[in-house]
Amino acid sequence: MGGFFESAYEGTPPWDIGRPQPEFVRLEAAGEIRGSVLDVGCGTGENALHMAAKGHDVWGIDGAPTAIKKAKAKAKERALKVNFVGHDALRLESLGRTFDTVIDSGLFHVFDDADRKTFARSLGSALAAGGRYFMMCFSEREPGDWGPRRVTQAEVRAAFRSGWRVEWIREARFATINEYGGAEAWLSKISRT
Ligand code: SAH
Repeated sequence: MGGFFESAYEGTPPWDIGRPQPEFVRLEAAGEIRGSVLDVGCGTGENALHMAAKGHDVWGIDGAPTAIKKAKAKAKERALKVNFVGHDALRLESLGRTFDTVIDSGLFHVFDDADRKTFARSLGSALAAGGRYFMMCFSEREPGDWGPRRVTQAEVRAAFRSGWRVEWIREARFATINEYGGAEAWLSKISRT
């Protein structure tokens, strides 16, 4: 990855809202988050910390060192245990372990077509058989061209075709810092078969 994210974390980027994404809070409350959890592209850690507060064994990985540093500081301050690691999401096999659940708030939509393929393979190595991947990405229903690449439901299905089952794709919203007013998203539940 380039320096875009690392520079963004010198300030407060629009997605870094200082609380977990409401869609992931709802998933957890609905009992969808099972067992051990890996938060890929965890940023400054709010979603991972939420899952840890709810009693899950949680790791968070991100490629931006400043994000990981901020996430570790929050964990310490809140006395929550999350293993935050600087790591490339395209190389999850070198984490050397699998998880029951992977959560992704805003990582998948960063990837170009080639990286989507690499990521699906990488993700497959980090999920136990029957494990679940919950992914929220920008949707093509979000107008304008601010922010990341828009993703269609067909593209989500294409990226997770063999070795995966797309359980559902729902309309959702990203919360952002106030002046951006949130964004249209797809929230997907995808199982490792
Ligand atoms: N999930 C966080 C951050 C979303 S922004 C949140 O909800 O706030 C996307 C994140 O993915 C950024 O933190 C960025 O540093 C990270 N990222 C992008 N490409 C990555 C890669 N190849 N490996 C690991 N992290 C990556």
